[in-house]
Amino acid sequence: MIGELLEGNQRFVENEFNANLAYYHTIAAAQSPKILWIGCSDSRVSEDVVTGSKPGTIFVHRNVANNVAFNDVNVASLIQYAIIHLKIPDIVVCGHTKCGGIRAIEEGVNDDFIADWLLIAQGAKEKTDRIAAEQGLNLEQKLEVLTRENIRLQIKHLTSIGFIKRHRNKTGLPRVHGWLYSVDSGKIEVIVDGNAVPPVA
Ligand SMILES: [Zn+2]
Repeated sequence: MIGELLEGNQRFVENEFNANLAYYHTIAAAQSPKILWIGCSDSRVSEDVVTGSKPGTIFVHRNVANNVAFNDVNVASLIQYAIIHLKIPDIVVCGHTKCGGIRAIEEGVNDDFIADWLLIAQGAKEKTDRIAAEQGLNLEQKLEVLTRENIRLQIKHLTSIGFIKRHRNKTGLPRVHGWLYSVDSGKIEVIVDGNAVPPVA
């Protein structure tokens, strides 16, 4: 498999990079991405591929279950860099169907680090438990609701981070969008329309 990746890189250099040298030299001089993507680490949800984007378009943070950990210097520093230095106007929080992280939130998991990490999504589980009880949802339906609720919760975390809140109040940016990618259809559904949401958190 490793050999295939290196062969794939050779094809990329020959068919894509060298065929678009001016573009790649421009982004080599300085990146200027327009989107910050916060997504799941799942191998099926490659942000460049599923949005038809070239390298240089999307600044990326991915983790298990596309969480925004409000006490995590990793994600906070990346968001700060994206907003303050790259001046990225739009953030996408993208969840996806059949997410192993979402299933682990619902069913519980014994691995310490994974369980700790998924506590960040606990509020989404509590809300989903209430909805599932009211509507009598089966497991698959419940997982779909949980996936959607977690996107909304992580947007709430994101927009509650102090400097993001202040920046949005002052400038109206960044806009924050919630998307759901289907691993079955390849399609993206807009869950939260960042263009429609008032910027003041
Ligand atoms: Zn996932």
